Amino acid sequence: LNILAIESSCDETSAAVISDGKILNNIIATQSVHEKYGGVVPELASRAHQQHLIPVVHEAMRSSGLHKSDLSAIAFTKGPGLMGSLLVGVSFAKAMAFSLGIPLIEVNHMQAHILAHFIEDPKPNFPFICLTVSGGHTQLVLVRDYLDMEIIGETTDDAVGEAFDKTAKLMGLPYPGGPLIDKCAQLGNPKAFQFPISDMPALSFSFSGIKTAVMYFLRDNLKENPKFIEENLHDICASIQYTLIKTLMQKLKKAAKEYRIKEIAIAGGVSANSGLRQTLQEEAKKLGWNTYIPKFEYCTDNAAMIAMAAHFKYLAGEFSSIDVVPEARMKF
Ligand code: ATP
Ligand code: MG
Ligand code: FE
Repeated sequence: LNILAIESSCDETSAAVISDGKILNNIIATQSVHEKYGGVVPELASRAHQQHLIPVVHEAMRSSGLHKSDLSAIAFTKGPGLMGSLLVGVSFAKAMAFSLGIPLIEVNHMQAHILAHFIEDPKPNFPFICLTVSGGHTQLVLVRDYLDMEIIGETTDDAVGEAFDKTAKLMGLPYPGGPLIDKCAQLGNPKAFQFPISDMPALSFSFSGIKTAVMYFLRDNLKENPKFIEENLHDICASIQYTLIKTLMQKLKKAAKEYRIKEIAIAGGVSANSGLRQTLQEEAKKLGWNTYIPKFEYCTDNAAMIAMAAHFKYLAGEFSSIDVVPEARMKF
């Protein structure tokens, strides 16, 4: 059972081959065109996918040692994501599946972020709770089985990755700011400055408040000292990161308690954050959780996770018809 998977939901063009549930490769072309704009420009992302997709697929096929005729299915990200970016991947996948006469498998990008946990050991046991934290989403998901998931909490406004990137932008850091805040935070004092933790009902999150708080905080301090940011960058980053992690951990603990689940996973780009990884492990010790953190390359967008999800869908007999269309706001 060999599946070629394509990921093109945002600004990473990626292809991967999975053989009998084992990932053979994970080729990723990251688009650098967006850096100078301080965020992903959808139109440029679509064009870059158009440019990178065939070379990326070629490389995935070449390094797999398989021939096209060995493929059992073609998988692709159906959504959520940028419509123009998704269209490139979907059209390519359809054309390839059609020409080879093999099935098509659509994958939900957010489910794939979670299923990335099944690429390598240790694998979480069902049911588990996954905190999915990425550039576009912040979700608490109850995972009952590979293809049986329920969102039990999510953000009502910005995603936590957005909060990292937008506050980084306010400090003049380049896009994506998340990894840079992480790096600077490691050298700073997390208690140096206080930012508000949003008080949201049940398992909901809100991250728009901290962005505004940081904006006023910087404005007021820059009035007094124009060099405030450069002189305090490490402490500001550490304090922002501390607040964001605390917000996430509060709700994660609440969810674990409510559902009486001790199998806890994190997924999505922000799960690459060293502070979040460390805090999760500390809490796990205190609360007796078994925690699961994906390898760095499977945290941010990649086709290996799409391939893993497609493997389970193939086994479950879930295929797509040739008239399938992408969904920018796809739900589970
Ligand atoms: P979605 O998956 O919701 O559609 P996306 O695919 O754009 O959104 P990912 O690629 O999963 O999101 O993650 C990208 C996000 O992860 C960015 O916001 C980036 O800043 C953030 N990120 C990556 N590494 C780190 C890190 N070490 N610390 C904090 N944030 C990080
Ligand atoms: Mg990305
Ligand atoms: Fe993603």
